[in-house]
Amino acid sequence: MNLSIFKKTSILTAVLLLVCSSLAFASTNPGGPSTKGQTNISSTLSYDEVIKILGDIEQSSKGKVEVFTLDQYGKSEAGRSIYAAKVGTGAKKIWIQAQIHGNEKLVTEAALDLLKTYASNKSKDVQKVLAESTLYFIPMYNPDGAEMNTRGTKIMATGKSLDLNRDWTLDGGFAAKESQAVYAYWADVKPDFAIDLHHQGIKQVYGTNEATSFSLGVSLAPNGPTLPAYKNYNDETRQMLAYVYDNLEGYGYTHIDRYQIVDSAKQAGYDIDIKGGVVSAMMMGLNYNGLNPDHHSHPAVFFETKGNTTDGSLGQKSNGYLTKQNYLALKSLVYGYVTGEVYKVDPNHWNDIPAYPLAGYWTDYNGIVPIGESGY
Ligand SMILES: [Zn+2]
Repeated sequence: MNLSIFKKTSILTAVLLLVCSSLAFASTNPGGPSTKGQTNISSTLSYDEVIKILGDIEQSSKGKVEVFTLDQYGKSEAGRSIYAAKVGTGAKKIWIQAQIHGNEKLVTEAALDLLKTYASNKSKDVQKVLAESTLYFIPMYNPDGAEMNTRGTKIMATGKSLDLNRDWTLDGGFAAKESQAVYAYWADVKPDFAIDLHHQGIKQVYGTNEATSFSLGVSLAPNGPTLPAYKNYNDETRQMLAYVYDNLEGYGYTHIDRYQIVDSAKQAGYDIDIKGGVVSAMMMGLNYNGLNPDHHSHPAVFFETKGNTTDGSLGQKSNGYLTKQNYLALKSLVYGYVTGEVYKVDPNHWNDIPAYPLAGYWTDYNGIVPIGESGY
């Protein structure tokens, strides 16, 4: 196949893209807030505040929650400790990570809210989750980026900025200290399932004038070029996201769609197929430095909450609503996973989540792969 012509025409479009593992084309910002001004982040949690909250949760949990740093594996580029928390006594290991992109703020709060629930809530559902699973939280994966309010981090050796969610590559090894530390910890824990939390810029639900409030995604596109080769993850990830979609609808949340990079002019969507993404590498069983010789792997999904502090699309008014939505999505997916309810869902129900007509795959290894040309 020859992708070169397509790639050339895509370069301009690509430049316009505010590339998150996320993010719609800039042109999908319909009369949204000015992209010049940054959102005031004083209402979001700083690194120090996160540490304080973690300590408070640990203390109030009466021994149920354990808070610790990953210092034995490494620190951030700027020398900050990466914090983690553990709760539950069961065999199923669930990994929840937030703010790998330092300008994606509210997700940290949602993760901490969920940890708080597990620390103190006595309900039957919560007790079941804690009895049957152990949850590992990394509420602020990228503390340097969080403090700078930048998507990536700064590599001290070179002064270059780096997207930590493109650094778990199969071939090159890790450029950032954060990646080495979190990867080594992940290889020790060997989770069974992971959820990764993000924010995206403004996009619209296909066929509506409504801004998307929440998107559900898999970083290796379901039915795409990569995922079907890995165990049963192609079905499991779709089941999980369809399950979350139904649950959020049940809670009354609307304007939820599938995560895609959207070309609004063409009204077409691209599913991402990003191999260097952290949760992608988890699904592919990355063995770096011999730390994962058995190629342990597991399914993983990600959530994208509306709004990004850098492009000014995060408004304080809706913060509470968006955090709650994220929290409920997390909580329901954990419960559905632990109880096995997610596996009762028809994987093809995933197709019922609103999405743009699929034009192709947005990859980090072969540019944009048009839909008809992904046969490899
Ligand atoms: Zn992100």
